[in-house]
Amino acid sequence: MDVTILGGTKLGEPLKARVPEHVSNLLCQAGALADQLSVRAFVVGGFVRDLLLGIENFDLDLVIEGDGIAFARALGRNLGVHVQVYDRFGTAVLMLPHRVKLDVATARGESYAHPTALPVVKPGSLEKDLFRRDFTINTLAIPLNRTGFGELLDVRGGLRDLQRKTIRVLHDRSFVDDPTRLFRAIRFAQRFGFRMEANTLRLLKEAAATDLVHRLSGPRLRNEIMLLLAEKDVSRTIQRMGTMDLLRFIHPRLRPTLQVEILLKHIAPIMAWWTKRFPDRPLDRPLIYLMGLIDGLTLSAAEAVLKRLAFPNRQADKVRHVKQSLPSALRTLSARRSLKPSGVYRPLAALPDEGLVLLAAKSTSLSDNVHATVKREISAYLTTYRHITPSLTGDDLTDLGLKPGPLYKKILGRLRDARLNEEVSTKAEERALVKRIAKL
Ligand code: ATP
Repeated sequence: MDVTILGGTKLGEPLKARVPEHVSNLLCQAGALADQLSVRAFVVGGFVRDLLLGIENFDLDLVIEGDGIAFARALGRNLGVHVQVYDRFGTAVLMLPHRVKLDVATARGESYAHPTALPVVKPGSLEKDLFRRDFTINTLAIPLNRTGFGELLDVRGGLRDLQRKTIRVLHDRSFVDDPTRLFRAIRFAQRFGFRMEANTLRLLKEAAATDLVHRLSGPRLRNEIMLLLAEKDVSRTIQRMGTMDLLRFIHPRLRPTLQVEILLKHIAPIMAWWTKRFPDRPLDRPLIYLMGLIDGLTLSAAEAVLKRLAFPNRQADKVRHVKQSLPSALRTLSARRSLKPSGVYRPLAALPDEGLVLLAAKSTSLSDNVHATVKREISAYLTTYRHITPSLTGDDLTDLGLKPGPLYKKILGRLRDARLNEEVSTKAEERALVKRIAKL
């Protein structure tokens, strides 16, 4: 990936030329408002980094030397959009058309009450604000006021590190102050193909060898892990985490085995197949990778992972269902004998979509034949079997003289099987079958 900077460190005109018109208009409007309110406004961090790397990024972070919240409110009024304010952090968010998200913050210096705590925020200058950031490549800023508009401010050598494709912390306590940076370092290295600068790598390994990460809350740790799993080439990310001994923070028995590596590699092509085949069934992609990562763990170890990472119920339930039902589904579907539709329906109905993808990925290692069959069966399940239901309902069973109870579920299940297997095709045939099952 090349860093292409147009016009030396003056980005004014190139800035306008390199971003879509609605973004450059927005930046100009923010600059004009800053002049009007007599504050200094800068766009900083990931947007500037990506601008220099030629990557599209519509997440804009503005830092205001002055009252950031008042600035955000005024900008929201000018643009006619809602402003979400977070008083405690001195930040505000504006959601704009065309997928643009604008974060506004008051320039601040921060101190940490203790490592891993959320920082105590004090108003400050842009320079102080940049000093509290994670890596040099994220410290670049561009002023938006008329004076200085578009000039690249590089107070920490971020440009040099972008050009040298290097991840570098700003000071030796960085990982101790905030251990989420251990994961962020790997994430950026992975995304951009950058290497860690030698001292940064040493500090990272030192911090990884301590228990600092244990002090991160479940949601914060989960957020970092899931962001890592959302990057490309997850298999490589997991290898890196293994090398740095970071997998133990997910579970002490988690290892980057060859089996895990192979399974993770098989997931991407299956997801591509799925998206093409079922575009209206979006997947929780990072969750599929998590399921793949913990595939070799026992059910109780998987429960420990769900607890440590404080997964919300919806995701936790998906992981549990997959853990409980995927092994037998794979056995059933990969058995030599050919299955009736009901034999395909039952194991697949127990799995969420993410589990179906993992199932197909796992079948890749068995044989080409099995893999093709499993994919065909998943397709048949999603396009056809899933929609087939019996015509009779619980009320019909009551009319037939059956007492409501657990038997209903069983009978309706048998009716569905019969429908799937085309053993019955009318209501009358279903009634006859119920009478035979219930010996009426
Ligand atoms: P991405 O492209 O993944 O969104 P980003 O650089 O925009 O990357 P964000 O998490 O959106 O990352 O954070 C915005 C900016 O805030 C970063 O560029 C960085 O300067 C700063 N930042 C975020 N998290 C931290 C952290 N844990 N420690 C220090 N600075 C951080």
